[in-house]
Amino acid sequence: MSSALTRDALEAFWMPFTANRQFKDQPRLLARAEGMHYWTPEGRKVLDGCAGLWCVNAGHGRKEITAAVAEQMATLDYAPTFQMGHPAGFELANRLVKLAPGDLNHVFFTNSGSESVDTALKIAIAYHRVKGDASRQRLIGREKGYHGVGFGGISVGGLANNRKYFGAMLPGVDHLRHTLDIEHNAFSRGVPEWGAHLADDLERLVTLHDASTIAAVIVEPMAGSAGVILPPKGYLQKLRAICDKHGILLIFDEVITGFGRLGTAFGAQYFDVMPDIITTAKGLTNGAIPMGAVFVRKQIYDAFMKGPDGIELFHGYTYSAHPAACAAGLATQEIYEREGLLTRGAELAKAWEDAVHSLRSAPNVIDIRNLGLVAGVELQSRAGAVGARGYEALVKCFEKGVLIRTTGDTIALSPPLIISTAQIDELVTRIGEVLKTIA
Ligand code: PLP
Repeated sequence: MSSALTRDALEAFWMPFTANRQFKDQPRLLARAEGMHYWTPEGRKVLDGCAGLWCVNAGHGRKEITAAVAEQMATLDYAPTFQMGHPAGFELANRLVKLAPGDLNHVFFTNSGSESVDTALKIAIAYHRVKGDASRQRLIGREKGYHGVGFGGISVGGLANNRKYFGAMLPGVDHLRHTLDIEHNAFSRGVPEWGAHLADDLERLVTLHDASTIAAVIVEPMAGSAGVILPPKGYLQKLRAICDKHGILLIFDEVITGFGRLGTAFGAQYFDVMPDIITTAKGLTNGAIPMGAVFVRKQIYDAFMKGPDGIELFHGYTYSAHPAACAAGLATQEIYEREGLLTRGAELAKAWEDAVHSLRSAPNVIDIRNLGLVAGVELQSRAGAVGARGYEALVKCFEKGVLIRTTGDTIALSPPLIISTAQIDELVTRIGEVLKTIA
């Protein structure tokens, strides 16, 4: 990539979730990556504090993944998986279900987190229907939830900016209260003590709508994209119990928490709560090739496998289980296992927690939240300019050689799971230095 991209050359690409005009006036380009670092086209080294976008869990430029994808492309570039199949799809599914908790032993492949979410919502509604319970169509999400950008995902999601421009959402959706409460829980370390009772909000919705109309509840066990929001201690257990009581499916959206982010393969294992469906993407292929996977419990898959022979689920993508993605997924899982990366977050969690909480004394920091290898550092918003301070932090950190992610005025950190303790210190020190320069 040329370092001399003119302003004109930046125009055609309408960039996602980006302030296009600000970016194109002052671009931040990444041209190369290896291990824990990116390099800009000018050759400036940037420490990756967010694993790309929460996805490059094994670090950048893994040669095993490149080689596996190249070999797969040379052998079988594409094969349909509608009424046909190819070996790598089955091999990857078999490998993945071994990581999943309990009997979540069937996998439906997608190409992204958004598609995984829409797939999970459709499976949940269809599941009740094939069981003869077609009145269960309602979906319950949560305020501040992020479930990607499909119409299903934004409907169950709870971020106003992602919804308000796009007209009517899916009908029959309601939302639980979110669990962010700085007043009670500021600067908690790990899951906050206060707030398990917020799960009782589901009982309120059951009373309002009646359980017989509700198909599923979808939540991120730990919400990342909305600014790192943690479940209070006991909250997810309560949600599970209420779902069980009323025959409601529980979907964990683990697009971020899947594949080691919290120090276990999935968030479900971290919290010791068994959902009925898990959605994943991102770390599945180390971000190298787009892919998502939806894990479902045996009883759900089995419910579809009754009835007359024929297609059981009218759903799928041209690129479901694309051979290149499967090769990337298999090579990624091999690396995770060989290097113990799915549990490395647990080993680093204490050092990470201590390091990120050292930012407490930095100017304008009003909360710090951490779990596994994730942290959110919330800055006080400027009056009338929500997000301005966060954006300034992003730009200045990049100039100082650190890639962070910001949502509004919250800095979200989620480095590759290969990060060293020295690099944790470097990351946090540089962020601290930047925060001192922001009024
Ligand atoms: N669900 C969650 C919890 C996510 O964090 C994300 C992305 O950050 C998505 C879904 C959407 O994934 P994608 O951007 O791959 O569609």
